[in-house]
Amino acid sequence: MNVRTRFAPSPTGYLHVGGARTALFSWAYARRHGGTFVLRIEDTDQERSTEASSNAILDGMKWLGLDWDEGPLFQMQRLARYKEVAERLIAAGHAYYCWATKEELDSLRNEQRSRGEKPRYDGRWRPERAKAAGLVAPAGGAPVVRFRTPEEGEVGWRDLVKGQISFPNAELDDLVILRADGVPTYNFGVVVDDLDMQITHVIRGDDHVNNTPRQIHIFRALTKDAGTQLPEFAHVPMILGPDGERLSKRHGAVSVTQYRDDGFLPEALDNYLARLGWSHGDDELFGMQQLVEWFDLAHVSRSAAQFDPDKLAWMNQQYIKAAPDARLAALIEPELRRLGAAPDAGPPLERVVALLKDRATTLLHLAEAAMLFYAEPHPEPALLAEHLSEAARPALRTLQARLAEAPAWERAAISAAMKQALASSGLKMPQLAMPLRVLVTGRTQTPSIDAVLELLGREAVLARLARHLDGD
Ligand code: GLU
Repeated sequence: MNVRTRFAPSPTGYLHVGGARTALFSWAYARRHGGTFVLRIEDTDQERSTEASSNAILDGMKWLGLDWDEGPLFQMQRLARYKEVAERLIAAGHAYYCWATKEELDSLRNEQRSRGEKPRYDGRWRPERAKAAGLVAPAGGAPVVRFRTPEEGEVGWRDLVKGQISFPNAELDDLVILRADGVPTYNFGVVVDDLDMQITHVIRGDDHVNNTPRQIHIFRALTKDAGTQLPEFAHVPMILGPDGERLSKRHGAVSVTQYRDDGFLPEALDNYLARLGWSHGDDELFGMQQLVEWFDLAHVSRSAAQFDPDKLAWMNQQYIKAAPDARLAALIEPELRRLGAAPDAGPPLERVVALLKDRATTLLHLAEAAMLFYAEPHPEPALLAEHLSEAARPALRTLQARLAEAPAWERAAISAAMKQALASSGLKMPQLAMPLRVLVTGRTQTPSIDAVLELLGREAVLARLARHLDGD
């Protein structure tokens, strides 16, 4: 079988991490089976859909490496097709025009509620009922098209994630498939498109489980004679925030591009999302190629996954550590410039990255840390007061002199100079290293200080020390 999957976002906002995870699973499934991954933009909510949002979604997908083989296809460009299919359903008796007004439907709903019933459309415009009740289509009215849902029996499917699911048909009513303005409703657009695009596996969030029985009915009505197979369905559980509520903005960044802007590497987010509700034994760190080799729907978890920002940060750190220095340097250079640095005026950025990357959880932290090499530090007075004790000053001045004379500017010589400065002072290494670090870098946390000094260069180090020590 030629596997065809799709991702069908509604362009009403950014690409949410939940959507990205669905896209990733659909993509991985298609790639795993040498199939085709289709991108469809479900833009029929005309009030909320925007082009900016479509673009943000495409950007997010490209950044994550989720390349699609067909599309993006926009539903609003297919209105003629939905109309044609709706008319076919009407001709075959599976759908009908409904002229019920909003007022009528409101009062129907109120009556049902007052009787303690669940509100549902009563099928009054089904042709045989309308005829029996003497209903006549009003002249000039704009009807909607409704689907004739079977009233008895049940509808079910074997979900590839959740197992057997069934719904009694009595719970479903005759849903609108085409609005009066000719725009399809979600459930109709999806079925027409999934059929036209020959989708074999519908992989989506489990918030759509309740829509699936309606879609199956429409599918069957459309394919009765053709014998086309229903696609397989795989409903992926939701993502929850650390507090167990559905993941939302309240929990922090939920947009993929926000993670990019916050300094995450795409492969880290991909890896994290892949592990969110899917597993391959105890494997935690793996790339997209590995995911494609391993991915299956059988190991998608049936229960909701919990989003853990700390774990994502940890993964990002692992990927930063493993990334080539040149790539990281290119990625952080714009941020350094934004922070006011002139990267050409300091040590080579790649060497700075090599020294710092083991500690960075994001690219922004890495850029922030790299700034010490490119901008004069301005240690806070409180920091100076805390670390630059009177006892340390003489030792720092000795060190200053030794560093000025050190035969070669390299780590070993720098450490030797520090030991010499200590020897005459009676201080312990941290009592010298910490004030030195604060004076030269403006920070209390850096990699090994001799490595930092070596890379910073003699001239810069002596200039920075002189600013605080000269004139004592
Ligand atoms: N546009 C729907 C959504 O964003 C797609 C659901 C589906 O994949 O069928 O939730």
